[in-house]
Amino acid sequence: MDLMPQPDTDLFAHEHDALSSARAVYENAAGESACRAALGELMAHYERLLREMRRLIRRSDREEFEMNRLNQRLNELAGELEFRANHDPLTGVLNRAAVIDIANGILQREALALVVLDIDHFKQVNDSFGHPAGDAVICGVVECLRRLLPERAEVGRVGGEEFSVLLPGFGFTQARGVAEAMRGAIAGYDFRLPGGRRVTASFGISRTARGAGFDQAYGQADEALYGAKRGGRNRVVCADSVSSL
Ligand code: GH3
Ligand code: MG
Ligand code: MG
Repeated sequence: MDLMPQPDTDLFAHEHDALSSARAVYENAAGESACRAALGELMAHYERLLREMRRLIRRSDREEFEMNRLNQRLNELAGELEFRANHDPLTGVLNRAAVIDIANGILQREALALVVLDIDHFKQVNDSFGHPAGDAVICGVVECLRRLLPERAEVGRVGGEEFSVLLPGFGFTQARGVAEAMRGAIAGYDFRLPGGRRVTASFGISRTARGAGFDQAYGQADEALYGAKRGGRNRVVCADSVSSL
């Protein structure tokens, strides 16, 4: 590449020669024609030098612009890749691995209320209206959850038609309030299914002290969810009341 001069060539050899002869003319106080010849040579090479410099500067500007563009694209792709690694492609909420990571992070700092919900009789939706209609129901459920998500809370899809809502620092009473609002929103939502068919979900809630892990929180919430299913579905059950069911 001509941008990189070889170590044994001098990019400015002509200018160097022209400068040497101009200096010699100057030092020897030569006649007018010698002065003009040296000056002419100096001008020609100086102009060539300017042209070359302009060309190199234009090229380096273009290459800097291209490098910045590629850098920006690289950052965008890294962001997209990170998003894909942590999010569910269908709904855009956190995926299972991200839910576990975030829940464990919260539990290192503070207590966590975990709401686990599962769509009721979802298999019937798929069987009656097809898989795409089932996918649309999953997205509708996520929309209901997102609308009611408190500040600092997170929502994720932990299974096919099962979701988790992380409520950092929440007690059972507050968490139950959030879950009841979500349950009501889903039950009242128009999923645009044939015959105006309604969809409901069942909820289980656990509350885990700081220092515990996601598995413990999830195990208790899942047990409460099972209690809600057994109790007739479309309801919220807290882990502290499961034994009384
Ligand atoms: P329950 O009230 O006890 O939860 O019954 P259910 O029918 O909802 O539960 P079941 O576990 O029998 O069925 C869940 C169905 O969810 C089975 C599976 O094919 C479907 N499913 C899982 N992931 C997806 C998905 O991404 N899209 C669609 N459309 N269906 C899914
Ligand atoms: Mg289900
Ligand atoms: Mg399920």
